[in-house]
Amino acid sequence: MAEIIKQIPNFKILDSEELLKQQLLKIEVAGRTSYQSEKGEVNMESATRFARMLIRRGHESVLEHTSTTVKFLDNSIGMMRELNRHRITSVTEESTRYVDNSEMQFVFPDHKNQLERVDLGEGREMTVSQMIEEVEIFYRGLRNSGWKPEEARYILPLGLNSEEVFTANWREWRHVFALRTAKPAHFEIRSTMVEVLQRFQNLIPGVFDDFVPAGVDNNGYKFYEQVKI
Ligand SMILES: Cc1cc2nc3c(=O)[nH]c(=O)nc-3n(C[C@H](O)[C@H](O)[C@H](O)COP(=O)(O)OP(=O)(O)OC[C@H]3O[C@@H](n4cnc5c(N)ncnc54)[C@H](O)[C@@H]3O)c2cc1C
Repeated sequence: MAEIIKQIPNFKILDSEELLKQQLLKIEVAGRTSYQSEKGEVNMESATRFARMLIRRGHESVLEHTSTTVKFLDNSIGMMRELNRHRITSVTEESTRYVDNSEMQFVFPDHKNQLERVDLGEGREMTVSQMIEEVEIFYRGLRNSGWKPEEARYILPLGLNSEEVFTANWREWRHVFALRTAKPAHFEIRSTMVEVLQRFQNLIPGVFDDFVPAGVDNNGYKFYEQVKI
């Protein structure tokens, strides 16, 4: 039976805390090469200060000496499409050509009721749950009739649950956060990216400090803005 999952951020940072720390230290080493201003050993405190300085002065190219990978779980295909628009990234996503979706999972907004009866006109009513059930039954029917996943996928909705691994350097992550945690971003990618940002801020001090909470929209989803630091 088709399963509906409430859309709540679910992701894993695939790099160890140690690797993130090493990359922060590397930024100071790289940046200080410019002016030959090495001061001996770098540490987390000096690297954090240095990263903040780079961002304040707009020297973000130094942040490109890094790379961090996040695996997104339980997000809709609709969100993955938005994520995939970011070009200076590496992406590996679940295939609808090869993965069989006879046991479907759908992601559904937390602020909507999947049992709401929707008026379809001409005296017909249906809930989201019923509609999704029908999609699964139909997909399974196609598969049982010999259709391959890559053929049956034409009837899949954008709410289908999907997974994706997404890698970017920290300059590009900053760009992704700037666009996707801001109020105009769609609530699914925004609520997920707000949590990724918060995790990055804890693990990688200095590099993402200029993103601050700026409010909550009418459906209760947070948004952020960038400030001068
Ligand atoms: C609120 C919102 C609504 C959106 N609505 C739509 C929509 O309706 N339809 C739609 O098609 N898209 C839409 N998008 C996607 C949007 O148009 C961008 O494709 C997406 O946000 C990626 O942004 P980007 O190109 O700046 O960044 P990335 O692809 O992440 O690139 C980062 C930066 O690198 C530079 N760069 C990358 N590639 C090039 C290049 N080829 N040439 C020059 N510079 C480059 C640019 O400075 C760019 O900003 C929307 C995005 C948002 C945030």
